Amino acid sequence: MARHPSPTARRRLPPSGRRSPLRPGGAGRAVHRSPRGEDSQRPAASPLPCEGGTNIAFTPTAAAGLWDEGHSAGPHRAAPARSPQPSAPLSPPPPPPARLRGGGHEAAAVYKKPPGRERRDHRAASAAGGPRQTTGSDTMAQSVWGYDSDNGPERWHENYPMAKGDKQSPIEINSKDVRHDSSLAPWHASYDPGAAKTILNNGRTCRVVFDDSFDRSVLRGGPLTGAYRLRQLHLHWGSSDDHGSEHVIDGVKYAAELHMVHWNPKHGNFAGALKQPDGVAVVGIFLKVGKTPKPEMKRILEEIDNIKTKGKEAPFQHFDPSILFPKSRDYWTYHGSFTTPPCEECITWILLREPIEVSPDQMAKLRSLSKSGENEAMNPLVDNWRPPQPVKGRVVRASFK
Ligand SMILES: [Zn+2]
Repeated sequence: MARHPSPTARRRLPPSGRRSPLRPGGAGRAVHRSPRGEDSQRPAASPLPCEGGTNIAFTPTAAAGLWDEGHSAGPHRAAPARSPQPSAPLSPPPPPPARLRGGGHEAAAVYKKPPGRERRDHRAASAAGGPRQTTGSDTMAQSVWGYDSDNGPERWHENYPMAKGDKQSPIEINSKDVRHDSSLAPWHASYDPGAAKTILNNGRTCRVVFDDSFDRSVLRGGPLTGAYRLRQLHLHWGSSDDHGSEHVIDGVKYAAELHMVHWNPKHGNFAGALKQPDGVAVVGIFLKVGKTPKPEMKRILEEIDNIKTKGKEAPFQHFDPSILFPKSRDYWTYHGSFTTPPCEECITWILLREPIEVSPDQMAKLRSLSKSGENEAMNPLVDNWRPPQPVKGRVVRASFK
């Protein structure tokens, strides 16, 4: 088998591309909740992870379409924009107040997209912080982070200084720089299908949430010490099949990337794990459009009609996510961060070499999600990926030759 199976296309293709036909939202049994950050997911009392990380207490509110600000997650405000200096050592910005730590996947303000504003092509801006486009008073402090021109990856650092840290993710992996490490053990997952709870659309991704109150579904081995608990999985995808993944392999982008987020219970809780370099382990799986689509994706995709709009959440029970693994357990590993604010650098990445295949219809289904609320105009949830960040001397190890 090819060392790196070829996905459909190379990077840097125009994003415009096709948009899948949009369908009217299917309400089904979905319930509506205030959307939270990608990782947030729990009702009050339980800590919430962000897509990336972050746990925050969530208080359900009736404010449909608004971000629930109760949990804090406000951005670190007023950090003046710095000139981009990708390789320069960071002078550490003042840490955000404790209550903001980990809450970052939420912002304190309601974001409203200015009418008529076009999507920015954030592919054009370098990961290292290409020229920032600022327009008038349009500051991040007034908006929630996202993937648009006015709140996208190039601007996250304004409110989340960690986004310019030394161990950010994703990265581009170049085979020539990878170090084979024969001491890397195989990894293995032991998942309890009964741990699956809900599926939701938070306006930034589609996420499945698992019960992680005890060692119920765990990941072990590989570069890890001890068992890490599965907390949630979510996806990043593009507006067309030639881009959408966050990690890039030898210049190649895949149509989507699945992240399975696990945390290390030795740190007490998820919020505690976010503060530790060995706190979180994410298994990353590339999705490639192909002729032998993986039927196992069906279960997630068939629920999508129930969570069409931001804030929708539906029951999602009895699901074993290990059915999504490719055949090969070969992986790359490196130390990095969440790819969404606040971009905590607590992640041991385990990126699987072999992609899984999805059909064009399955990708269209993902793109039929809306990042707007139920009573707002359809706004396709696409291109929710962060571009590669500076490697800054980190070494990527491979379990295979
Ligand atoms: Zn992710």
